[in-house]
Amino acid sequence: APGETTKSFEADVARLLHLMVHSVYSDKDVFLRELVSNAADACEKLRFEAIATPELLSAGGEPLITLTIDPSARTLTVEDNGIGMTEGEMVEALGTIARSGTRAFMDRMAEEAKGGESRLIGQFGVGFYSAFMVADRVDVVSRRAGGDTAARWSSDGLGTFTVGAADPAEAPPRGTRVTLHVKEDAGTYLEPHVIEETVRAQSGHVPVPIALKTAPDAEPRRIADGAALWTKPKSEISTDDYADAYRTLAGQFDEPALTLHYRAEGLHEYTVLAFVPGSKPFDLFDPERAGRMKLYVRRVFITDETEILPRWLRFVRGLVDSADLPLNVSREMIQESRVLAAIRKGVTSRVLSEMGKLTESDPDRYAGVWENFGAVLKEGLYEDEDRRAALLGLARFHTTTGGTAWRSIKDVVADMKEGQAAIYYAVGTDAERLKASPQLEGFAARGIEVLLLTDQVDGFWTSMVPEFEGKPLRSVTQGLADLGAVPLREGAEPASAEAVPEVEGFIAYLKETLGEDVADVRASERLTDSAVCLVANDRGMDRQLERLLASAGR
Ligand code: ADP
Ligand code: MG
Repeated sequence: APGETTKSFEADVARLLHLMVHSVYSDKDVFLRELVSNAADACEKLRFEAIATPELLSAGGEPLITLTIDPSARTLTVEDNGIGMTEGEMVEALGTIARSGTRAFMDRMAEEAKGGESRLIGQFGVGFYSAFMVADRVDVVSRRAGGDTAARWSSDGLGTFTVGAADPAEAPPRGTRVTLHVKEDAGTYLEPHVIEETVRAQSGHVPVPIALKTAPDAEPRRIADGAALWTKPKSEISTDDYADAYRTLAGQFDEPALTLHYRAEGLHEYTVLAFVPGSKPFDLFDPERAGRMKLYVRRVFITDETEILPRWLRFVRGLVDSADLPLNVSREMIQESRVLAAIRKGVTSRVLSEMGKLTESDPDRYAGVWENFGAVLKEGLYEDEDRRAALLGLARFHTTTGGTAWRSIKDVVADMKEGQAAIYYAVGTDAERLKASPQLEGFAARGIEVLLLTDQVDGFWTSMVPEFEGKPLRSVTQGLADLGAVPLREGAEPASAEAVPEVEGFIAYLKETLGEDVADVRASERLTDSAVCLVANDRGMDRQLERLLASAGR
């Protein structure tokens, strides 16, 4: 058409599309969740912008998502009266991979062997492009709220797309219409009951009502009421409803490991709907360490870019709906707000206490949470002094004597040996290698349990945590470990630390030879089989941390 230009997709989009087009993934239904969630996002963005600019609402009516089936044209249309897109926004949003989750997905794909692909698609949302699982052409016509021009975008998903101006008469009065030309083998998505059931199952709770038209000239019928799930009483919400809300909010495809839904009353009033995911979100170790909690004010979506939870809880997904913040609060002001500070404190405490309850009520499930997110929670041990004790209580460890079991620090304290002065830990990259380290011989000979710390963050937090409930926490490489007071296990070979003359002579020789390179050379109780090992000064930084800092160029 005149005024239309043809553009190529970004290389990563082309790869993703190729996957979608040739998808062998059986759960193609998810495309509808993605399109409905985009339509709902667009309505929520409009609600927010209209607080400052009410004129934006003049054309287009109350927020609504309309699905229309046209059996003779073999099309399924998802239309919203939300914020809409300009031509430039279309090129940006529908030609590149903007969202970090999708980017992470692509990176993961590059690592996975062929064949793992369809499994991965099943694990999390891939957004708009999933439309090409069921459509061999997708047309998008949009009018930005308040604008009098319209734009169109079209693609067969095979490498290029076209964009250009559209006749405003053909565009929605406000918002976006996405038309799917349904593939031959996806005809099931032209059946009204399939669409209705899929929407109910996947998107029943989105905060915008949904209507279905079974033919272009049919009367629209409401199939979802748009009542925000979190405003309903818990007794009216099923586990499936929660799982559905979790999948949409978190972009995950599994079940939540922990669900929090409560209303805080008192000084500040707010509702929380939050989930600890059942598996690791793909952006968990992004350098920004950003969370994804959404902030609403009286059911109006405000932002998902404010820090509602500390970064070491960034895996928690969901929303907070505040009754106290002013609706017209600017996004910049929010971060500074005292109300938000109170919310952050309250929600953080609640997440920690609910995890604490889970350790009691379902230790296996909690072990799964720790396996997925322990390394992130430990960042809190390092940077959040106020939460240190609570986090240490939640922490789980593999140890030299615990086998495959996850041990809490309480468990370890309960099993301390008579005369044992401290809780001991060893930091390294590999548990098996650590266990074989000569540093641990003296501990093993006395049956002392040693924490095996193999996460990158372990070298850091251990330097910040001096003790647990009065018991000092010490690295096995830090100075002499006072092992003399702990009796040897039966059958263990005693290592004599008595400075017999031969040993003294040898020590003098070592000191002379090594000179400035060592602070001291000592006989030790810690070794049983090995002849020597290196230890750090009592006050010296843990050796592993030294290495980490050195590799970070400090
Ligand atoms: P995400 O929704 O996670 O950002 P998507 O791939 O689903 O990723 O969508 C990409 C972008 O396209 C959105 O961020 C948005 O800017 C734009 N978009 C998609 N659908 C719509 C719509 N119905 N109305 C307005 N913008 C949309
Ligand atoms: Mg989306």
